[in-house]
Amino acid sequence: MSIVKTENLVYEYLKRDEEGNVEGVTKAVNDVSLRIRRGDFIAIVGHNGSGKSTLAKHMNAILQPTQGTVWVDGMDTRQEDRVWEIGQRAGMVFQNPDNQIIGQLVEEDVGFGPENLGVPTEEIWKRVEESLRAVGMYQYRTHSPNKLSGGQKQRVSIAGVLAMHPQCIVLDEPTAMLDPSGRREVICAVRELNQAEKVTVILITHYMEEVIHADRVFVMDQGRIALEGTPREIFSQVERLQELRLDVPQVTLLAHELRRRGLKLPEGILTTQELVKALRRYEWPRAESEPGEGGEDGADC
Ligand code: ADP
Ligand code: MG
Repeated sequence: MSIVKTENLVYEYLKRDEEGNVEGVTKAVNDVSLRIRRGDFIAIVGHNGSGKSTLAKHMNAILQPTQGTVWVDGMDTRQEDRVWEIGQRAGMVFQNPDNQIIGQLVEEDVGFGPENLGVPTEEIWKRVEESLRAVGMYQYRTHSPNKLSGGQKQRVSIAGVLAMHPQCIVLDEPTAMLDPSGRREVICAVRELNQAEKVTVILITHYMEEVIHADRVFVMDQGRIALEGTPREIFSQVERLQELRLDVPQVTLLAHELRRRGLKLPEGILTTQELVKALRRYEWPRAESEPGEGGEDGADC
């Protein structure tokens, strides 16, 4: 069974005038049907305004569909008596870590979620410890969150969600406000959760480098899923991605450019190592007069 499933999901934001009459409609999600398998690492990408956040908010019942249906762990998100339960199954991490941390101490902050769920105290401490260890922040448990770096704060937010024992974590651009080392920390922690703890991860990002380890990628455009596939399938379509106003990882772009100029490299190269390997294997055409083998001139050109 899928952990998240949507069928013909449509969501419209209504703009109302002072009298409450509808004066405009934005179709933010437009006929999206998707399935997310338990335990998968999913990435959702798309330019600004393509509907990623609106879609994400359906995955833990923050929003209800205008049309169509969303199921989380088999529960229809429109069932009002299940909203609380759905919120626990699918935890959410947002962009700004400062808005998500409320505790005076790291361990307190992580304990808030399970405390609100009515988890017994002893169990709370166990979960706090496990969650902080899972994101590599256990040694900071008695620190004040204010003194942490952005990447560390975001890892504490993730621990806070983990402590509620969700089936799935939805992260909406969790690295957008972080520097490169903070981004790396957060992505490593998230990958570890997925691999070691088997938590389903749904990562929304506009950094293409963060997508390459996903099991599946959804590319959104104007509220629709424009492309879906493995990272390699997606990044093999460089021109299509550029049409969809997305950046492509630099190394993928370089490999694509080399192919355009006639080098027979495979499509969808995702990492520097892959490119180096492909170039090493490449059979270079022999020059007519190679240095050391022929004439004395031509060595520099
Ligand atoms: P993304 O996360 O990909 O940037 P969003 O889901 O935030 O996209 O937005 C999709 C569309 O819905 C955009 O056109 C945006 O302007 C609009 N939108 C988002 N939030 C609201 C809102 N609260 N009220 C009205 N329109 C909104
Ligand atoms: Mg967004």
